[in-house]
Amino acid sequence: SGAAVTAEMVDDVARKHFPPCMLNLYDRLKRDHHLKHFGRLQLGLFLKGIGLPLDEAIVFWRRMYGATMSDDKFNKEYKYNIRHSYGQEGRRANYSPKSCQQILTANQPGTQDSHGCPFRHFSPENLQSFLVDKYRIDRSGPEMRDIMDSVKASHYHVACTRLFEVTHGVKKGEGLGNAESVSHPNKYTDRSRELEK
Ligand code: SF4
Repeated sequence: SGAAVTAEMVDDVARKHFPPCMLNLYDRLKRDHHLKHFGRLQLGLFLKGIGLPLDEAIVFWRRMYGATMSDDKFNKEYKYNIRHSYGQEGRRANYSPKSCQQILTANQPGTQDSHGCPFRHFSPENLQSFLVDKYRIDRSGPEMRDIMDSVKASHYHVACTRLFEVTHGVKKGEGLGNAESVSHPNKYTDRSRELEK
């Protein structure tokens, strides 16, 4: 994985390198100062995976919750969960960031949730607007057509791989390199950060 990330850097890394599942969660958190359980878990483990250390994760989440949450509530209810996901509490398990397969199939999001995979869990209209707004994909261009065709065929990771190619100036079929397709959000981000160097 890439070089360490601080709480301060997350916003910049998100804009440049997050796949849709994580950018959506991050933007919702930034807007609402809140995420539901599975969203916190999906984003939190991903951030651990990109190299956000525990002390920086605590700074990050405290800032994101902002004035909507007291220090007391944060310390009592949230800090433990963050430490737990870093294996520092409870049975000290080392929890891995979730793969696309897990995100696509486990814990189906309800209407109030922001976790999951936008390629699978957004309506086609919302997905297109999201890709236009956040990734500057031309709504009526051939790239959007490629992506939406894959979505229609339920090949979500193919759609995500195409998005990666289009937004990184990578030739069609090259994927993350050597024709590897997206199978893990952390791989998407790690590869994106490598290409920036
Ligand atoms: Fe995230 Fe994987 Fe969906 Fe891409 S295909 S948005 S990396 S879950």
